[in-house]
Amino acid sequence: MTFKDLKLEPPILKALEKQGYSQPTPIQEQAIPILLKGNDLLGVAQTGTGKTAAFGIPILNHLLKEKSSGQGRRKIKALVVTPTRELAIQIAENFTAYSQFTPLRNTVIFGGVKQSKQVASLQQGVDILVATPGRLLDLMNQGYITFRDLKYVVLDEADQMLDMGFIHDVKKIIAKLPPNRQSLFFSATMPKTIVALSQKMLGDFERVTIKPQQATAEKVEQGVYYVSKNNKPKLLIHLLEQRPQDSVLVFSRTKHGANKIVKILDKAKIKSAAIHGNKSQAQRQKALGEFKDGSLKVLIATDIAARGIDVDDLALVINYDLPNVSETYVHRIGRTGRASASGIALSFCMGDERPYLKDIEKLIKQQVPRMGEHPFMEGADVVDGSLNKKPQGRPNNRNRPSNKNSNNRNRNRNKK
Ligand code: AMP
Repeated sequence: MTFKDLKLEPPILKALEKQGYSQPTPIQEQAIPILLKGNDLLGVAQTGTGKTAAFGIPILNHLLKEKSSGQGRRKIKALVVTPTRELAIQIAENFTAYSQFTPLRNTVIFGGVKQSKQVASLQQGVDILVATPGRLLDLMNQGYITFRDLKYVVLDEADQMLDMGFIHDVKKIIAKLPPNRQSLFFSATMPKTIVALSQKMLGDFERVTIKPQQATAEKVEQGVYYVSKNNKPKLLIHLLEQRPQDSVLVFSRTKHGANKIVKILDKAKIKSAAIHGNKSQAQRQKALGEFKDGSLKVLIATDIAARGIDVDDLALVINYDLPNVSETYVHRIGRTGRASASGIALSFCMGDERPYLKDIEKLIKQQVPRMGEHPFMEGADVVDGSLNKKPQGRPNNRNRPSNKNSNNRNRNRNKK
């Protein structure tokens, strides 16, 4: 299937061509026709599947077709609510890219910065608003936003909204929306509270499920190193030193841990920066900007800060800590091997984290390949004898990562 088969408006097709999207991803193939028909949608999918375009393209297509020649200020006709500022910015950037050959305008609002610029942008009039829940509710309560003309609403990453404590804000926002609308609901997982929320928000809906395996396992080469807590820093430095040119995203379970990793790397003369909830919006945007443009090669992130971050050419994700929620693993490794690229995800697993690894493998229905021995095996808790029989590096040069891995790296480099 091609985007042309979906009978999209010419300016949108032109933009997709410019983006280099030659064919729809599975979620786009399934969701776009449903949304073009005007039906509500429940999408069980995480970022990395192409879900932003899956909801963005049909909304833009509808708005283009409906575009009246009416005079006066633009009214908000589409709303996208998403949990983090980084995601909000990214979604708005995607809308801008897909609508670049149309007169449609979007803006993005999020907390942590002064509201004046955002209010000014709203007052100029926009067709599409992308927002995080807190700031949205705040500006609604101050009377800067009305949804009288709203026709399309997207609730993105609903399970993350729940994790971040936004669920009440989200309910209040939904209650203020006009009933006559097309509603889209996306969540990577469907715990009970989220099912209930989806039932509240959606009318008759169609469901599209993109399984984590489809999104990750095929594209991302995965591997796990058994390593003690004390040796994690050494192994990290070792791996980073082998890939000075690659963009690497390192996940830490805690904010404190992320800061500590930056300090350790600093001592080893490896430049890095951390993004997490305790950093100011300006610091986060600076680090992310530098990481995206390639001037910063190593970014350390906590899960919430990194969720949905979309960086071209992200060669490697390192799970410095394994997440205790298996779905998070899928989100993390989805940062590499995005829709059009392949990537590598390496995890560190100390003795205490063994149960997490088991849960992850259950969820993704595959064993994460063991990376064999490495120079910092001391204290590594290898209880299940599941290391590969032969170390994967050259026998007399165990400093090297596995051959399999270096091949992947070269392949990735060649792609660029
Ligand atoms: P998302 O899941 O929306 O965050 O998208 C993941 C990545 O895939 C982003 O970098 C998109 O620009 C890219 N992408 C989305 N749709 C396509 C497509 N049809 N072909 C190639 N890349 C795409």
